[in-house]
Amino acid sequence: MNKGRPSASENQSGFFLSKLESAMKWARSGSLWYYAVQSGCCADEVMETLGSRYDLERFGCVPQLEPSQADLLLVSGVVTRKSAPHLLQIYEKMLAPKYVMALGSCASCGGLFSEDRSYTGLSGVGRIIPVDVHVPGCPPRPEAIMNGLITLQEKIRGES
Ligand code: SF4
Repeated sequence: MNKGRPSASENQSGFFLSKLESAMKWARSGSLWYYAVQSGCCADEVMETLGSRYDLERFGCVPQLEPSQADLLLVSGVVTRKSAPHLLQIYEKMLAPKYVMALGSCASCGGLFSEDRSYTGLSGVGRIIPVDVHVPGCPPRPEAIMNGLITLQEKIRGES
C-alpha cells in the first residue's frame, strides 16, 4: 500500500501544474504593461528611463494610456489629499493581479511634502494603495528605476 504517497499520475500532474504556474509567473513578470501617474520633478527621470537610451520595453514593460489595460502602476511625485481619490480610482480600474511601484521619495514616503511638513501632502502612495516596490532617490536615477523593475519581476516569479 502506498498510503499517503502520491501515485505516479498524481506526481505527473503536480509536476505539470507547478511547471505551468512557473511559466505563467515568468510570462507575467516579462509582460508588465504600465500606467504612469507623474506629478512632480521625478517625471523627467521616469521619461528618460522609458526613452530609447534605457529602453524599458526590452523588459516587456509597455506603456498604456488606459488603466484598465495596465497591470503595473508607476507613481512618481507628490500624492496629495486632493489627488488621492483619483489615484484610488485608477488603481481600482486596473487589471488583476496588479502591481505598484513608488518612484522617488515623494511617492514613497512623502519626501518634502509628507504629512508632518505639509497640510496637503500624504506620506506616500502607500497610504492609499499597497505598494510592491519603493525606489529611493530625489529624483531616482534611471538605473534605480530599472533596478526596481527587476526587483518586481523577481518578486512576481517568486510569489505563491
Ligand atoms: S522625490 Fe524629489 S525629484 Fe521626485 S518629485 Fe519629489 S522632490 Fe521632485
